[in-house]
Amino acid sequence: MRIEVLGGYGGESLGRRMTCLLLNDAIALDAGSLSQALTIDRQVGVEAILLTHSHMDHTSSLPFFIENVFGRRDQPLDVYASPATIYAIRKYLFNNATWPDFTRLPNHLLPVVKFHEIQDEVPFELGGMRFTPIPVHHLVPTHGFLIEQDGQAVLWSSDTGPTQRLWEIANTTPSLRALCLDTSFNNALQQIADVSFHLTPQTFAQELEKLERKVPILVHHIKPPCEEEVRAEICALGNPDVDFLEQGKVYDF
Ligand SMILES: [Zn+2]
Ligand SMILES: [Zn+2]
Repeated sequence: MRIEVLGGYGGESLGRRMTCLLLNDAIALDAGSLSQALTIDRQVGVEAILLTHSHMDHTSSLPFFIENVFGRRDQPLDVYASPATIYAIRKYLFNNATWPDFTRLPNHLLPVVKFHEIQDEVPFELGGMRFTPIPVHHLVPTHGFLIEQDGQAVLWSSDTGPTQRLWEIANTTPSLRALCLDTSFNNALQQIADVSFHLTPQTFAQELEKLERKVPILVHHIKPPCEEEVRAEICALGNPDVDFLEQGKVYDF
């Protein structure tokens, strides 16, 4: 599978885009920076979007992306998300006050956007890949995803504090090629990380103790103001299996 990192950060600044992956050129995982990272032609090529949760650093490009592809697609855009995420997006984003309700435009029979509910650990197929939503621990209902294709698997954590099920999946998936894990804040901001259910390098290290096998770990979702400290503290762990997920890079698994 081909994973292009459109946005690798948990916030936005010059050259730092918010969480968004493009899988096999067709499926977006989160929508923090679809409209900023892709040309209009490539945006039109996005067939479906999977959302991990409703927070803005994962959804904020949705309104502008939909506007960009409006009228250029034959089919509605399929958005896969949990019932809680769909509820939040309908209520707070596509509510006609913040942005038009594209689930009823141009009319309810031919909408631009179509939502599909995902459920905990119920796999589904999309774009030749198999996705299994794994519940993690965050401020709002949130899923990581086990992504599988052609006997290769990648585990995407999304936003999470200390968690359990993700590690059980990692330990029981022999085909796992990489695990991508949130590390948002530096150690001095541990209290903020705890109340917002994110990891710091020190809780990241504690989480890694739950992993019973050797697999490459890619750090993502760093908050831009914390980047220098987080990178230094992660490097100080001296773990040769740990690297940073690089924005703009294409990974082949
Ligand atoms: Zn986030
Ligand atoms: Zn979040």
